[in-house]
Amino acid sequence: MSGKEIKFVNDAFETNWIAPVGPHIDLFEKELSNIHHNRHVAALQSGTSAIHLALNLLGVKNDDIVLCQSFTFVGSVNPIRYLGAVPNFIDSEVETWNMCPNYLEKAIIKNLKFGKKPKAIIVVNLYGMPAKMLDIMKLSEKYDIPVIEDAAESLGSKINGKMTGCFGDYGILSFNGNKIITTSGGGALLSKDNEKIKRVKYLATQAKQNNFHHYEHTEIGYNYRISNISAAIGLGQLSVLNERIKKRREIHDFYFQILGEVDGISFLNEPQGFFSNRWLTTIIIDKLKFSNIDREKVRIELLKENIESRPLWKPMHMQPIYKNFSFYGADTCEKIFNNGLCLPSGSSLDEYDKERIRKILSNIFNLD
Ligand SMILES: *Cc1c(COP(=O)(O)O)cnc(C)c1O
Repeated sequence: MSGKEIKFVNDAFETNWIAPVGPHIDLFEKELSNIHHNRHVAALQSGTSAIHLALNLLGVKNDDIVLCQSFTFVGSVNPIRYLGAVPNFIDSEVETWNMCPNYLEKAIIKNLKFGKKPKAIIVVNLYGMPAKMLDIMKLSEKYDIPVIEDAAESLGSKINGKMTGCFGDYGILSFNGNKIITTSGGGALLSKDNEKIKRVKYLATQAKQNNFHHYEHTEIGYNYRISNISAAIGLGQLSVLNERIKKRREIHDFYFQILGEVDGISFLNEPQGFFSNRWLTTIIIDKLKFSNIDREKVRIELLKENIESRPLWKPMHMQPIYKNFSFYGADTCEKIFNNGLCLPSGSSLDEYDKERIRKILSNIFNLD
């Protein structure tokens, strides 16, 4: 927290808006819209619920095919199964680690051959790095398959000045506790189409019909609206988003200074025109370049000093729960997972912490 949130939370208490409705939600949506090229916005309980409702709006049903990036957090995928639909997983490309457009097209063609037109594509901007959205949107248009852009980790990232979450037919955001800004739990759905966003807000409040004095329901709805208290926290957090991005980018540069020249370590570089919020700094350690250093060695050396680092997201096609679904690709995201590490990247990392980390990394890699 930045300290600015408490003022908005006090406002909410003083006006007694302790509900999944209230002025802070309206304002939070307005501000999210302002930074997202005036997209219409529905603030929800989580990023996962936003994906669930986006799939719902696209009419995804039992046995429909949804093409989804394999290298992601499970929240991108579970909503496909909530609807009884079938994920087909797509490998990553090496530049952004996100959905590979070539394998995406292969998956589309293969499904069309079997007479099954995929209902949606879920593409993810992992660790803050935008996916190759321009290529993916071209395929979306060519084959007339809508895109849900999972920007849960990429708030504030851009391609050629355009905010992530604004490329797909739907964009989804998350304000979970681990994200670059947080409302403790929360999410949002973005769309150009205000009618769609109105429908999302209706579905997210148990699909209660207007124009009745009693509760009238003609469809299945959900309890997915954000709390006004969470939205109040979000207003404070949004006011420091740019500071947070600056801080995360500095942390990335700090690690790059130490390890950028080490043969066998690679960073996720920004392609021309891409801007990443650098949510987490991630590296790949090519174990073949070292005699006795790999991802686990670095993780354990840091842990010995009580410093947590983590492996990258384990791809969905390798997960016990999802390993029996189709996968289109080679071993790109599998290799990234096997050799990749998320380095400590929290916004509260200070000079003292950094010095401790620098010493350990320098020791492992025999630097200076
Ligand atoms: C966090 C996250 C989600 C889910 O968001 P929640 O708000 O936690 O439900 C979805 N996709 C990705 C890539 C995420 O990192």
